[in-house]
Amino acid sequence: MSERKPIVAGNWKMHNNTIETRTLIQQIIKNGKNLGQNCEVIIAPPFTSIACAAKEVKDSAIQLGAQNLFWEDKGAFTGEISGPMLKEIGCSHVIIGHSERRQYFGETDETVNKRIGSAIRNGLIPIFCLGETLAERETGQAFIVLKRQLVKGLESLKVENPVDFVMAYEPVWAIGTGKTASPEQAQEVHAFVRGELALLWGDKFAAKTRILYGGSVKAANSKNLIGQPDIDGGLIGGASLNAEDFLGIIEQGTGF
Ligand code: PEP
Repeated sequence: MSERKPIVAGNWKMHNNTIETRTLIQQIIKNGKNLGQNCEVIIAPPFTSIACAAKEVKDSAIQLGAQNLFWEDKGAFTGEISGPMLKEIGCSHVIIGHSERRQYFGETDETVNKRIGSAIRNGLIPIFCLGETLAERETGQAFIVLKRQLVKGLESLKVENPVDFVMAYEPVWAIGTGKTASPEQAQEVHAFVRGELALLWGDKFAAKTRILYGGSVKAANSKNLIGQPDIDGGLIGGASLNAEDFLGIIEQGTGF
């Protein structure tokens, strides 16, 4: 059994106002027996629902994440949210480099690197996402792209304790499409990512780092995916918006 405690994290994207947030969290807590015992549970609501979520998850095992941050701590940056602001409101984690941010909002390896730096500096645990597009996979570029994203995303950075750093492999072609990487395909990439992380931050650190899989994970496929030796949990989009589906993944994927 791996010493890495699995993580199931829900990326709510641009869903759930405060009323919906309250209801969904209450359903998860009410129906999630032994929540947090065998795996860590994180939800990442949109910014406007984080304060409300913080009240609801108090005294539960659910941890709170944001879906992005800006790299400066404060200043004239209209529309942005900083690390200290997320920390103050109760976030422990922040998703960085999600493919939707890379695809639609001009996120680059360089801006991902600055955001990860800010998360580390502000005591937030980054959930650093990387993944190849279908075209990149089909042209044999997947591993080159993944290595570039990892090396540039972490350039000049260091995390002391592996529990304070999380990665997520999310093949772009599997996000919100209903297509999932096969457990073998995902395992191959996870082992590769762990190897590359080891080259950068050492074998010991890499061996203790949780690497999540994301891309159309559901209760039905979670057991086989999370059961792979280098897959330490899931980053869940669509299926995290429904308490039964989300709890099903936690139950099937992590064994309770
Ligand atoms: C995601 O947004 O990180 C994700 C994996 O989405 P979905 O589960 O809907 O594919």
